[in-house]
Amino acid sequence: MSGRAPARMKAGEKLDLHTHSDRSDGTLPPAQVAREAARRGVRLWALTDHDTVSGLNEAAAEASSLGIAFIGGVEISTRQHDYLHILGLGVNHRDKRFLQTLEEAASRRDARIRRVTEQLAAAGVDISYAEIRGLARGSLSRAHIADLLKSKGYASSRSDAFRKYLDPGKPGYAPSGGLDACEAIAAITNAGGAAVVAHPGLVLPVLELPAWKTAGLAGLEVFYPSHSADMTRKLLEMAVKYGFFATAGSDYHGPDSGRTASLGAPLPEKLRDEVAASVEKFVWNS
Ligand code: AMP
Ligand code: FE
Ligand code: FE
Ligand code: ZN
Repeated sequence: MSGRAPARMKAGEKLDLHTHSDRSDGTLPPAQVAREAARRGVRLWALTDHDTVSGLNEAAAEASSLGIAFIGGVEISTRQHDYLHILGLGVNHRDKRFLQTLEEAASRRDARIRRVTEQLAAAGVDISYAEIRGLARGSLSRAHIADLLKSKGYASSRSDAFRKYLDPGKPGYAPSGGLDACEAIAAITNAGGAAVVAHPGLVLPVLELPAWKTAGLAGLEVFYPSHSADMTRKLLEMAVKYGFFATAGSDYHGPDSGRTASLGAPLPEKLRDEVAASVEKFVWNS
């Protein structure tokens, strides 16, 4: 089944083009995310871990055995804003130049995490870089620091740890060391993928759509759990204005991730086939 998108999904079947596994800051291994997707009625699914494609082979194999159409993706962090992220749908996960870009992103993540750890230690928090490295199975993230703060009793959940220690103005805040947004868009496009702004409603003030269109941006994640109905309408209008396609994702991170959205994007069923058609050519084929 992998290798072909469902020509037409049945009533009640879902899609989800934005999810995470434990190869970044999700809490479930890629194959388990696939099984959870199947259980939730998702028939077209993309794994989009932060700055890594290391979970894609495992995810694709499990999706294939479950009869789910799979898209290999990634979510690239930028330096413009902590939450300005560019999704890459259908990137060639073997592209050497792209893998090099992800390696550079990993060293920037590493430097940021070291810096945050030093700041927290200086503020009297008992925490070390080695402990955090030990928690991560792929991309290092501030979410792993949050997990460590929780396990040491400094916070009751990931969200609580961000609120108390990691958000701007708190002792463990250090700015994002990601790529420039245009570089992220170009890297994805050069690796054969479609670049899509993740959760644009969270970063409205920093959007530079005309410049990003020129850089190769293809889509906007219009349908997202925390976008209000008004926001969704506004983003749909922006997508039409610039000629971007609309995508839909849950940003699922698994249980105990401090997020409540389950798998399956919040998308009116009448728009589902249109969204699926926009990304059909990126369905995994290997
Ligand atoms: P980083 O990529 O290192 O900047 O870490 C940010 C990640 O931490 C995001 O991708 C989220 O998954 C997670 N995160 C950020 N804020 C929160 C929060 N308040 N509650 C739970 N997870 C969060
Ligand atoms: Fe995340
Ligand atoms: Fe994101
Ligand atoms: Zn995400």
